[in-house]
Amino acid sequence: MSNKVFEKSLETENYAISDSYAKAVNVIFHSNTAVCSISGGSDSDIVLDIVHNVDELKKVAYYWIDTGLEFSVAKDHISFLEEKYGIEIQKIKPEKSIPTCVREYGVPFISKYVSEQMMRLQAHHFQWEDEPLEILLQKYPNCKTALQWWCNAYYTAENGVQQMSRFSINRNKWLKEFIMQNPPDFPISNKCCEYSKKKPARNFIKSMEADLEITGIRKSEGGVRSANYKTCFSESKSKNCNTYRPIFWYSDSDKRIYEQFYDIQHSECYTKYGMKRTGCVGCPFSPHITEELEIIKKYEPKLYTAAVNIFGKSYEYTRKYREFAKAMKEQEKKKKCTELT
Ligand code: SF4
Repeated sequence: MSNKVFEKSLETENYAISDSYAKAVNVIFHSNTAVCSISGGSDSDIVLDIVHNVDELKKVAYYWIDTGLEFSVAKDHISFLEEKYGIEIQKIKPEKSIPTCVREYGVPFISKYVSEQMMRLQAHHFQWEDEPLEILLQKYPNCKTALQWWCNAYYTAENGVQQMSRFSINRNKWLKEFIMQNPPDFPISNKCCEYSKKKPARNFIKSMEADLEITGIRKSEGGVRSANYKTCFSESKSKNCNTYRPIFWYSDSDKRIYEQFYDIQHSECYTKYGMKRTGCVGCPFSPHITEELEIIKKYEPKLYTAAVNIFGKSYEYTRKYREFAKAMKEQEKKKKCTELT
């Protein structure tokens, strides 16, 4: 059967797809207890299709984390997948709910990395001052990583060209200037991801005594999530649970080819609401949060009210930052034009 599914993948005439099938057959064959996380997103739909096609002994357990902030159509999609593949997708609850995390630790802002560093700086009562790293390290000891982020210490130069580092605040243009002029008067934190998603996933993997964890990360999605990995497979000696990312090398165009060839139907989050992503409703980490909120308001008004109640401060701060960045960009443009004339 494995040979047959691989042979079928060759008919796509797409290297990324047939290569992923060859690897999936091999990786799943060598696992005794595999678990596959299902998000209901478009990447996850393809991962599930591949895994289900090659898992002839049906040894993969599927799970979905219900954070409590889920689109109704996303929940429908999970039921649709269960029916389509004849599988059970186990519903996992958060260790702490998102509203509890926001209340206890703070609200997410911009990205996981930015929120993590701002949370650390706030814990040290940082005054958001523009001083050199050496001075700040003396003033705020035990806070090195966050101060390096704040001071752009990882800003590297290659062949004399300045490089944008994902570990520097300059990756988000004008953010430092904005924060200095508008210090946050509310706690910022990325803990809701930790307690609502990561910990429950880790607990589930442990409870299943899994030796393989399958996820839908793609290299081309960019960001910290994919930059943490170099290949589609990571061996873990300490946890005894390896990680496999079947579509790690898929480009957007490979995805389109896969969807057409294997007739993949995505969630109505995409096909009806016109969203670009799924996941927690109104997550402040989304780069398209302003547009998404309009969609949520239209299709899921109750969830819109909930999201605004939970993340409102972050939405407001993000809006102010985006306006600030836009104004600074304009100023910069005008300055350049004046210098040229
Ligand atoms: S994705 Fe966003 S809203 Fe969901 S748990 Fe993570 S930070 Fe919180």
